[in-house]
Amino acid sequence: MFFEPITAAPADPILGLGEAFKAETRPEKVNLGIGIYKNAQGETPIPQAVKTAESRLLTEEKTKNYLTIDGVAAYNHATQILLFGENHEIITSHRAKTAQSLGGTGALRIAAEFIKRQTQAQTVWISSPTWPNHDAIFQAAGIQIRHYRYYDAASHGLDWTGLTEDLSQAKQGDVVLLHGCCHNPTGIDPTPEQWDALAQMSAQVGWLPLFDFAYQGFARGLEEDAYGLRSFAKLNRELLLASSYSKNFGMYNERVGAFTLVADNEEVANRAFSQVKSIIRTLYSNPASHGGSTIALILQDADLKAQWIAELDEMRERIHAMRQKFVATLKACGAKQDFDFIIQQNGMFSFSGLTAEQVDRLRDEFAIYAVRSGRINVAGITDDNIQYLCESIVKVL
Ligand code: PLP
Repeated sequence: MFFEPITAAPADPILGLGEAFKAETRPEKVNLGIGIYKNAQGETPIPQAVKTAESRLLTEEKTKNYLTIDGVAAYNHATQILLFGENHEIITSHRAKTAQSLGGTGALRIAAEFIKRQTQAQTVWISSPTWPNHDAIFQAAGIQIRHYRYYDAASHGLDWTGLTEDLSQAKQGDVVLLHGCCHNPTGIDPTPEQWDALAQMSAQVGWLPLFDFAYQGFARGLEEDAYGLRSFAKLNRELLLASSYSKNFGMYNERVGAFTLVADNEEVANRAFSQVKSIIRTLYSNPASHGGSTIALILQDADLKAQWIAELDEMRERIHAMRQKFVATLKACGAKQDFDFIIQQNGMFSFSGLTAEQVDRLRDEFAIYAVRSGRINVAGITDDNIQYLCESIVKVL
């Protein structure tokens, strides 16, 4: 028997939590696990801009012919504008090349294969902590991983000293993976001055920066959230980027992402990108059309784009309001600790400071599900569950 000796793989720490939550029968259950946006009613709605574009697509689409290996051209162009801004030199000089990918995960996997097969890089530096799939994706491509410190548990903030100490060991040609904004799982981003300092370090030493941009628009706004990336783009001629539109377009199951490569000039970009396309050809040949075509329609239409931005603003503002209410309610429920740091964090996630034991107790005694690292999805908090949630947290503190 060939399959008999195979051992079972461990459940994914985050997706496994979703399955456990689904099976939970206690009606008061609260899900603060997987990173999906939820509105005040606890639903994950399809943005109206997406619905409108989809219905237009349904009537206007004329063929289901294959896309090219790199996907929908208008989507790829719109991706570059979101990343760098309209008329950025990188775009006008054609030294950026983008391929539509299967979500941000797919873009990261393309990046990992490209790094492994086409560059001299031996090592990728990944923040500790990070989204757990980062390590797994680079391991799968056979790239050595080193970690840089990121989180200071005492201050609940960025460990800037640890981060710069560790990254000072990164050598020329090493890849440094950075979260574009809304760092997952901590919710803590570098300040503009810290981004500038990192960009300078990178240019001086010669890192190959890889930006994972999965939450653009969730910290301060679409343009504001690109600060770090654009700071790097000023000083570093070569960059790799993995975009995800799962969250900011609410299109989780359409697998919308993009891989972008920035080279020193158009000729090098074209050559390098031909290798990217050959990697994609052997992985999945070419992407699915629906998600990319929908987003391209939205981003090319001024009214739909404005509507999408308004809906994105609403998501961001709801999460921010919930952070404030969460901290106030914890206080009102008698929490002795200071949770004000939660208000400063960006995006959906908060490193709450809850220990693995406390997270376990929340699940076992109160049917409240969170990641054992203490990461909570603030978007899972609603007016209906906040009182129960805060009372329960105070009981396990
Ligand atoms: N990168 C980070 C930091 C994420 O948090 C996620 C999703 O949770 C991804 C990438 C992957 O996004 P996608 O669902 O588009 O593959």
